[in-house]
Amino acid sequence: MSEEKNNDIVDAEVVSSEEKKNEVAEVESGFSFDVGVEGVEGVVSGDMGLRVSKVPVEKYKGSTQRLDMISFLTSKVTAIKTHYFEGVGNLICFGGKCCELGGFPNVRYLFPIVIYHTDGEGNILSPKLDIKVLSAGEDFYKTIQTIHRASREMGGIDHVDLLVTCTDEQYQKLTLSQSGDAKWRKSKKAVQALSDRWKKDGEFMYLGVARKVEPNDFMTLLGVDGGNDSGPSQRVSESNTNLDSFFND
Ligand SMILES: [Zn+2]
Repeated sequence: MSEEKNNDIVDAEVVSSEEKKNEVAEVESGFSFDVGVEGVEGVVSGDMGLRVSKVPVEKYKGSTQRLDMISFLTSKVTAIKTHYFEGVGNLICFGGKCCELGGFPNVRYLFPIVIYHTDGEGNILSPKLDIKVLSAGEDFYKTIQTIHRASREMGGIDHVDLLVTCTDEQYQKLTLSQSGDAKWRKSKKAVQALSDRWKKDGEFMYLGVARKVEPNDFMTLLGVDGGNDSGPSQRVSESNTNLDSFFND
């Protein structure tokens, strides 16, 4: 996947890496969390109402009806460029026909977050944890950097829990408020499970936000007959073939 780290997807630190408290949590007693869905790859059992996502990590959506409690898994950010096309959705920019037809791309800043299982009012109900991807635009990204700075003494934004208020679901207007130390870091089991899950799915985080499309498939997807795009992105890597399977229903 390293050859994928092109101009479309950039990993970086929120601020500078500086003096970050030890990345792996100090283990304390008490909290023990369950993470995600276990079982055989591709086979998931559960109670009625179980939903299975076709992307490895779903996008986080705040709700005006709910106060969520989350925590940043890392202070590292992944930036992606996307285009929105009516009837198609968000696509990752490949620096070709997409820009010709869609104009300047949007930039989204992605963070993996831990979601606590709460009663919708900020109280933890069970030790279940989930990982989702938080997609921030320019303004919200600035807010995130400010919170990261403000929580420096606690180790940074990935060492605190945050309450999320949503004031507009359509535009996902979110407000974050600090709510003490990150509880998941106090459980060795949770840290391990989250880290395992992240090693497995982290590189596909952006798929929860935008689809990746090959330049050659782009015009077909848009239903426009435009022939081959021979833009700068003809570097087709093998991993893309695997990604396609996420979108084949
Ligand atoms: Zn583009």
